[in-house]
Amino acid sequence: MERKQFQAESKRLLDLMIHSIYTHQEIFLREIISNGSDAMDKLAYTALTDDKVSVDREKLAITITRDPQNRTLTVSDNGIGMTKEEMEENLGTICKSGSLSFKQGMEKTEDVDIIGQFGVGFYAAFMVADKVTVISRKYGEDSAWKWESGGEDGYTVEPAERDTAGTDVIMTLKADTEEEKYSQFLEEYEIRSLVKKYSDYIRYPIRMEVSKSRLKEDCPEDKPEYESYQEMETLNSMVPLWQRNKKDVTQEEYESFYREKFFDYTKPLRTIHFSAEGTVSFKALLYIPGRAPYDFNTKDFKAGLQLYSSGVMIMENCEDLLPEHFRFVRGVVDSQDLSLNISREMLQHDRQLRVIAKGVEKKIKSELKAMLENDRETYEKFYAVFNRQLKFGVAGEYGVHKEATQDLLMFYSHKQGKLITLQEYVDAMAEGQEKIYYISGESTQRLGKLPQVQTLDNKGYDVLLFTDEVDEFIPQTLQTYAEKSFCNAATEDLGLQSEEEKKEIQEKAEELKGFITFVKESLGEQVKEVRLSANLGDHPVAMVPGPGMSFEMEKYMKRVNPEMAFPVDRILELNPEHPLVKAMEGAMTENPEKAKDYANLLCCQAQLMAELPLEDPVAYTDLVCRLVQG
Ligand code: ADP
Repeated sequence: MERKQFQAESKRLLDLMIHSIYTHQEIFLREIISNGSDAMDKLAYTALTDDKVSVDREKLAITITRDPQNRTLTVSDNGIGMTKEEMEENLGTICKSGSLSFKQGMEKTEDVDIIGQFGVGFYAAFMVADKVTVISRKYGEDSAWKWESGGEDGYTVEPAERDTAGTDVIMTLKADTEEEKYSQFLEEYEIRSLVKKYSDYIRYPIRMEVSKSRLKEDCPEDKPEYESYQEMETLNSMVPLWQRNKKDVTQEEYESFYREKFFDYTKPLRTIHFSAEGTVSFKALLYIPGRAPYDFNTKDFKAGLQLYSSGVMIMENCEDLLPEHFRFVRGVVDSQDLSLNISREMLQHDRQLRVIAKGVEKKIKSELKAMLENDRETYEKFYAVFNRQLKFGVAGEYGVHKEATQDLLMFYSHKQGKLITLQEYVDAMAEGQEKIYYISGESTQRLGKLPQVQTLDNKGYDVLLFTDEVDEFIPQTLQTYAEKSFCNAATEDLGLQSEEEKKEIQEKAEELKGFITFVKESLGEQVKEVRLSANLGDHPVAMVPGPGMSFEMEKYMKRVNPEMAFPVDRILELNPEHPLVKAMEGAMTENPEKAKDYANLLCCQAQLMAELPLEDPVAYTDLVCRLVQG
């Protein structure tokens, strides 16, 4: 018998498979099953177009047979089958059909991960088998052929027997090693779960003999005895949930699918099931989880949607389908317009994929918006868990994605005592109010008492109280919202003073120049600058940061990136109308030591109000005691 060699191209792929230490070897089954399914599709199609061919579609099925004794796993189909020539042609070369793109991908990179992500076809069998035998009989032919290969040594083809048309792929599994237990692929449980995982939605039944047990006949009722027996069972559910009509699927079904597929025992907050027609048609079933997976904020978390092409899973986490800001979404996308064999590189640049990703993003956004508007309670639950992701969406990449997410943000309103959107803030702005005011700190309660907030409150202006460290990135990125600019109430000019009032305070500063210098000198390096302010309401002092960064940002940087963190300038603002400030000014000439103590006391108080730690709390308490004792 003549032994033939594989084509050079095929040999490379084959080598890759044979020597693969790839952890996703299990996908070989998906590949072989998918080929069988294609062969049945072809037969069904031929029957439609050729009168001489008649096929009972009901009988088309894939059968899996485990033979632990001979160490073989067989996948049989009753599809169109192959002639001798077709076998040589199709199995001896990978330059056929879709595999071509894999070949191109391989030339660019040796990244073995491609194997797991995409169809690599028939050769995947060599990842787990050291011998592959294919017996096939073409529909309409009388004879069958056997193709056999041990991989590197080429292949043989010889006549064989097969009763009906179709193909058997017989894989003789490699011997187990320390690391690899190939014999797992002979276990009923393993095969069952692989079919469920990768091929559940193949439209033909995938059957296998499974062991069951039943009550023995004639056994006495009080002494039940069981016997085991074998029975053919269909392992796959055949119709994917997302392919079904929305109105025929119950909420219960959606939820149990979610639980099984995404391993989350809690209910999703929202199920989004939709289809899109157009240049690229697809169906999608998406979920908004009610909680973050435990590894969500680590790099172990794999974001992305499962990608199917006509019921066959081609990628478990297709990241390109989800924008970063919606990475919490879980789900499935199925499009028959995608080919099974697209390589990773092609996927990235795939125009069809981009069209789908756009559609998916738009849909998620509109669903979240609807939830925000019509079901605030659920939205707040969602927001409590995933608000950071949305905020990163706005602030990330210099704000290029802000359109998608800025309307979904909420912040705590001082006036309303609850979370509101930026739009709601703008809609409720008072007559004459020009800016969106915000201030950041650790708790809304404390922030609400700050002098700047009270000053604004007295004017009837609302203030957004930022308590998440990343909140401040939002105004910095957006600059404006609905044409209103943001104003950090702690650091920026509140814009409340008239030109006249400004002039007044300038004159006052001129007048008190000596006093201001005295305070600055008393405090030394503790502050960068001392100045007067008309924004302090009833309070004597406030500590504000110099331009650029806020104290909250400083704390955040210190925590996440200590090496890059640098201290923000501290500026002490004095309220010239406050009795204490006036008293200090009076003491300056009569009792400079006491005035110095006042300056230090007020500086510490300003720091406390700004939620800044005191450098020397003991000195502060001593100071207070000294002053109280007179
Ligand atoms: P692909 O499925 O992408 O074409 P494969 O390497 O998996 O690549 O298969 C190569 C070819 O071999 C298929 O296109 C098909 O023509 C043929 N083939 C493989 N398996 C079967 C089968 N079970 N029945 C009929 N033809 C098959």
